[in-house]
Amino acid sequence: MLIKDGIRMDGRKPDELRPIKIEAGVLHRAQGSCYLEWGGNKVMAAVYGPREAIPRHIQHPLKAVINARYNMVPFSVSDRKRPGPDRRSVEISKVTSEALEHVVFTGLFPRTMIDVCIEVLGAEAGTRCAGLTAAAVALADAGIPMRDLPVACAAGKIDGTVVLDLAGDEDCEGEADMPIAIAPRTEEILLMQMDGHMTYQEFEEALELALKGCREVSKLQKEALLRKYETKNEVAP
Ligand code: UDP
Repeated sequence: MLIKDGIRMDGRKPDELRPIKIEAGVLHRAQGSCYLEWGGNKVMAAVYGPREAIPRHIQHPLKAVINARYNMVPFSVSDRKRPGPDRRSVEISKVTSEALEHVVFTGLFPRTMIDVCIEVLGAEAGTRCAGLTAAAVALADAGIPMRDLPVACAAGKIDGTVVLDLAGDEDCEGEADMPIAIAPRTEEILLMQMDGHMTYQEFEEALELALKGCREVSKLQKEALLRKYETKNEVAP
């Protein structure tokens, strides 16, 4: 049983997020970076570029190529994960790159690439949302021009109830999981995937919840960036 009397196994209500902590600019060697904790997820994102795209055949004459690479480290899950890319990580890297490409002003940097490294250090469901959310902060920290600060959050269905932000057991035992990413100013959808089944009405309910989650996470992203860049007003002696 994943939900009893409207309360989930970890004590959350159906429309509550797990605790989230975001810190911008944690790595000194990268141009931009972000460390993010979201429930049991621990994610580091780092941005390099724009720099000349190599090998040259990947260059686009009119725009920058966004190369997001999602990776789970071997110790991020309980059964040690085999290092290196697999089908799942290639898929997540692709959808993340495509989502980010829609908000970055890629046309300003022809023939270049922007590398976005997403390392999942600890995983507990929702790592693609955590990764994309951290990547967005790292891109902003790197000063990459974007028309919006993308954000991601999932909603799904457990024991017949539509809920926000599935945790580990809910993801494994639940009926559906639907991660989305949006550009929050316009609420344009940049990514939408779904595992499992929902009725159309449940889908609409889940979409509304995921959008609400995105709005909350978006505030935390902005606060993290403000914390990094706020200038302390020195009081004259
Ligand atoms: N997971 C795992 N081993 C793997 C891949 C995933 O234990 O090789 C776990 C991990 O906790 C992950 C969860 O399964 O967060 C759900 O994975 P999914 O593919 O649904 O992606 P996510 O929800 O993390 O975006």
